[in-house]
Amino acid sequence: MRTLSDVLKQQYGRKLRKLALSSGCTCPNRDGLKGTGGCTFCSLGGSGEFASPFAPVDLQIRQAKQLLKEPEDADGFIAYFQSFTNTYGDPARLYELFRETILRPDIEILSIATRPDCLSDEMIGMLKTLNEIKPVWVELGLQTIHEATAQRIRRAYPLPVFTDAFHRLKKAGIEVIVHMIFSLPGESEEDMLESIRWLSGLEPPADGIKITMLQILKGTEMAEEYLEHPFPLLSMDDYARLVADSIRILPEATVIHRITGDPPRSLLIAPEWTLHKKKTRNTIMRYLNPR
Ligand code: SF4
Repeated sequence: MRTLSDVLKQQYGRKLRKLALSSGCTCPNRDGLKGTGGCTFCSLGGSGEFASPFAPVDLQIRQAKQLLKEPEDADGFIAYFQSFTNTYGDPARLYELFRETILRPDIEILSIATRPDCLSDEMIGMLKTLNEIKPVWVELGLQTIHEATAQRIRRAYPLPVFTDAFHRLKKAGIEVIVHMIFSLPGESEEDMLESIRWLSGLEPPADGIKITMLQILKGTEMAEEYLEHPFPLLSMDDYARLVADSIRILPEATVIHRITGDPPRSLLIAPEWTLHKKKTRNTIMRYLNPR
């Protein structure tokens, strides 16, 4: 298993820290374009509670650095556009924003979270140009390969849209990180592992993966669904076992970016154990290496 921090230490000789930034984009799955009202688990912050509101990037970076637990100017940073759909907007405006960000000496990597249905050839061409300056990562929220679940959580794109965007990004030389969610309603453990097996079969392989436990957050449609008709959620132990199984399945080339979540405490309804990151991580490690 290769973890992100190991790979970054190897490549940069030091720890890089993420700065959560906002591109000012919304999401086509929330603004009415798709006519859906958004993924049912998505909170008002667009599945990223830490980004600063719309502000010049210089100010956002200063604010994001102040939020770090141990701010240290000597470190390098990953500019992380996490919330909403960060390629859903005017390509010229986004190009200027991302270019200004990536050209900063304190930024080593530009990381952009988006939906696979918001990656036109023009947008990928723009990311390719930026990738020639410094590494650009694109994070795609797949969550599951199962169509029935995708419809239930209203992801609002079918699997082939993901596959197409994935291959176009890889062809452009851009690193792709895939986000999966475990314990989505209606999914069995086998369904979750099937998603991981499918992902592991992609050629070329995904550059990175994030696996997180489903978090039921206040103000989401999933919270209403859960409170009215509670559906089973994985225990910490079961989640840890499944993540360990997934890591064994995934190819060595796929770097483990994340295996725990960061739920906003004030919004979290369930499961409470997702607040205990260290314990979750240790349990996963115990499953990976019982001795
Ligand atoms: S695609 Fe992302 S931002 Fe849009 S509704 Fe789904 S989780 Fe929220």
